[in-house]
Amino acid sequence: MDSIAPFVGTDPLKAELHAFLSTHTDTNVLRHFLGTSFPFAPLHLNDCAIVCLNLEWWQKEPHPTTEIGIAELHPTGIFPTVHAENILREIRVAHARVMENAHLLNHFHGSGNPDVFHFGTTKFVCIEEARDVLVNTFVRPSADGTMLQPIIFLAHDADKKFEHVKEKFGLDLLALGTIVKVIDTQTLARQAGILGPKGPSISLPHLVEHFNITPQNLHTAGNDAGYTMITAILSSLKNDLYGHRPLAEAFGRPPAVVGSRNIQCVVEDLMKTNKSLPPPPWGYRLYCTRCDRINHVRSQCFAKVWCEICAHSGNAKLEKACRTHMTERCVYNYQPLPRASPEPKKEELRDEVERSVPESD
Ligand SMILES: [Zn+2]
Ligand SMILES: [Zn+2]
Repeated sequence: MDSIAPFVGTDPLKAELHAFLSTHTDTNVLRHFLGTSFPFAPLHLNDCAIVCLNLEWWQKEPHPTTEIGIAELHPTGIFPTVHAENILREIRVAHARVMENAHLLNHFHGSGNPDVFHFGTTKFVCIEEARDVLVNTFVRPSADGTMLQPIIFLAHDADKKFEHVKEKFGLDLLALGTIVKVIDTQTLARQAGILGPKGPSISLPHLVEHFNITPQNLHTAGNDAGYTMITAILSSLKNDLYGHRPLAEAFGRPPAVVGSRNIQCVVEDLMKTNKSLPPPPWGYRLYCTRCDRINHVRSQCFAKVWCEICAHSGNAKLEKACRTHMTERCVYNYQPLPRASPEPKKEELRDEVERSVPESD
C-alpha cells in the first residue's frame, strides 16, 4: 500500500494537492513529473520539488545521527530519453556529516565510508546547523516566490526517516506543512514488479543492481540519497523506458545497454557532473574528527590529543590508545568500558582453564 500520511498543514492549496495525490499510486505520481502528466491536475502540482532524504546513524546506542543526504529533482515534465538520462542528469545531491558524531564509524557488514561521496562535495555541520538544513530543505519559497514550495518526499523506508528526525532533532517533518505526498522506493519497486531476493521488501543495493548499476559505497547518506532518487525514477519509468515485456521476462532485469548507451555510464556521468558543481552554501568543507579543527581532515592531523577516559580505564589496550583521540570524542562516552584486561599471569591462565572445564551433571 502507498504511504498515506494525513496532511496537517494549514495551506488550502497544499491540502488540495495532498488530497489529489493521495488518490494516485506512488508510481503514477512520479510519472506525472517525468513526462506522463495527469490530465486534470491541480494548478500548483507542477510547483512541486521531489526531495529525497537519507540519514545514517551510529549502529550503537543511542544511535546519534552521523550523516544527512539530500537528493533533489526539480522536474520539468519532459519525456524521458534512453535510461531517462535527460532526467537523471538533473538530480542534485547534498551530503552533510554531523561534526559532533562524525567520528562514530559503523562496522556492520556493508557499512559505508562517509569520506567517499560520489555525487558532490561533503560539508560538515554541527547538530544545530543540521537541523536548520533539514528545516530549510522542506520550508522554502516556490520558484515564483508566491508560496512555500510543495514537496514530494521520497525515501527508501520513509517511516524510519520521519521517526529518526523526530527523535534526534525534535522535528516533525510532516508537521512543517509542505509535504504533499510521501513516496517510498520500496513501494515503487513493488508496483514495478521488482522483488527482493528474500521477499516483497527490497534493499537499496538490490534495487540498484536490478537496474544493472554497480552500487558504490552505499550505507553513507549522500550516496544512498543519490541512488534512491535514481532508482525511484527508473522504477516508476520501467515500462516506459524498457517496454512492456513478455510475462516471462517482466520481473527480470531490464537491459543494461539501450541504443549503445550503458546505464552504468549514465550514472558515472551524473556523478562527474555533480562533482564539478559548487557545494552547498552551509557548513564547513574541512573538519578533523581527531582534533576538532576546521582547517584539515583526520588523515592530515598531527595535533596532540589525549583521552582521559581511556588513559584511566585500567585497560592496557585502551591506555595505549589514549593519544589517538580526545575525551569528548571517545566512544566510551556512550558505552561501558570493556573489562580491564591486564596481561594475565601464567598461574591465572591455568586457573582460568580449570574453571572453564564444564562440570558434569
Ligand atoms: Zn586534526
Ligand atoms: Zn577514549
